[in-house]
Amino acid sequence: MAQEDILKKIIAHSKEYGFIFQSSEIYDGLSAVYDYGQYGAELKNNIKRYWWDSMVRIHENIVGIDSAIFMHPTVWKASGHVGAFNDPLIDNKDSKKRYRADVLIEEHLAKIEAKIEKEVEKAAEKYGASFDEAQFRATNQRVIANQEKIDLIKKRFIKALEADNLAEVKNIIEDCEIVCPISGTKNWTDVRQFNLMFETKLGSVSDEANSIYLRPETAQGIFVNYLNVQKSGRMKIPFGIAQIGKAFRNEIVARQFIFRMREFEQMEMQFFVRPGEEIKWFEQWKETRLRWHKALGFNPKKYRYHNHDKLAHYANAATDIEFEFPMGFKEVEGIHSRTDFDLSQHQQYSGKKITYFDPELNESYVPYVIETSIGLDRMFLLILSSAYTEEDLTGEDGKTEQRVVLRIPPELAPVKLAILPLMRKDGLAEKATEILNELKYEVNCIYEEKDSIGKRYRRQDAIGTPYCITVDHETLENNTVTIRNRDTMEQERIPVDKVKQIVVEKTSMTNLLKKVN
Ligand code: ATP
Repeated sequence: MAQEDILKKIIAHSKEYGFIFQSSEIYDGLSAVYDYGQYGAELKNNIKRYWWDSMVRIHENIVGIDSAIFMHPTVWKASGHVGAFNDPLIDNKDSKKRYRADVLIEEHLAKIEAKIEKEVEKAAEKYGASFDEAQFRATNQRVIANQEKIDLIKKRFIKALEADNLAEVKNIIEDCEIVCPISGTKNWTDVRQFNLMFETKLGSVSDEANSIYLRPETAQGIFVNYLNVQKSGRMKIPFGIAQIGKAFRNEIVARQFIFRMREFEQMEMQFFVRPGEEIKWFEQWKETRLRWHKALGFNPKKYRYHNHDKLAHYANAATDIEFEFPMGFKEVEGIHSRTDFDLSQHQQYSGKKITYFDPELNESYVPYVIETSIGLDRMFLLILSSAYTEEDLTGEDGKTEQRVVLRIPPELAPVKLAILPLMRKDGLAEKATEILNELKYEVNCIYEEKDSIGKRYRRQDAIGTPYCITVDHETLENNTVTIRNRDTMEQERIPVDKVKQIVVEKTSMTNLLKKVN
């Protein structure tokens, strides 16, 4: 299936089964803003819990906070967002479509890189076990030429960005002969900077002094509370502060479903360390975070690190964890070594001393910071796109039918157990309700009595429910039920009292947390 088709299917599936709806849909929607439906909200809460527990609960030296979305406007001057939270934008004069200039160039580079990978793949197939990939990359003329092209464009692009030379960014787009995907032309406007923060007014007097911003990241809420948390929690370095919350960015281009939204959620953790020890911690967090992703059990080949070529002014090391989404490899999480930039800036702008007295070193310093920052909605898309599976099944009558199943890790599945009475009559509904009333305190259950059992199984597959139990006449006789596994579709007859044990054990978040630690 073509990759774009997968994304289209996921969007349609998300709507049909109550995961994600376009915001304000009855008014034709609001661009790049989405609402989570009944199963989406459950899945989102489970992702949050997985992140929160793996950060805050299992680390004695990490605590969590929940800071406000509105902050003093000077925060954003100190952080550099007022001056520099910009994206370079460019318009195509024919299609009137707007693009991020940096994204156009990155996509052009990705295309050249794809050519190299294809070449490598072809050779690997041809030479089989004797294939030496490193040697091939170093000697094949086409690979070398394409790699040189990439390096040259990258070098020019980084230099242009560093010098804030937007005319040169446009030259690069023209020299690379990048065309608008809609109009197919190279008729571009000049490149301009665009600040991504949303501005609003506080209180009833509408003047300049009352202008505030919707936060574009949650991290600053952590930095401005550094002293409060360190003192009230008697925290000792190294320690971390974590937070989950909404962030807002007036993105220039937001076309890939929940990958890039204008209102989204972040899960961020700032880890405060001794100056000079930041690279050691940076490496450690890189590994821990990748382990967190891989614990979910999706194809490990779909993850990779992408080190930043151009570091932000505040960073001395930065990497992204990228995942192969239906649109290709894209960032899902950033890990940044932010030096003492943020705390120093807030110290300067607020006039308050923000230092830590280190009793072991017997000295005071402004702590250095390692940040891990992941988009909750992007993580949601990662899970949906990995979990969505179409399978052809052959029935006993030899007919094939298709089932769509969301292979969401059971620990994160929105509903853990569906309780299905074979029919309403003969006391089966009452028995099923009795089981529901006992198990609903343990795991998220659903009760369904409409449609045939087969149809009800399919519906639960489409939601990603790992277990279904069917209550039938035999249940009334010997207190047993049939339990069905979503992934294997195997059914087994078990005593009702064993259901709780099986479902709780297989869906417990502890399974994941132990893999991360
Ligand atoms: P990108 O390069 O994709 O714009 P970024 O480098 O600006 O992302 P960060 O500022 O590092 O992103 O934010 C941390 C994380 O927040 C990202 O890894 C991503 O998962 C998430 N994120 C950022 N912007 C958005 C958005 N507009 N919609 C959804 N998630 C986002």
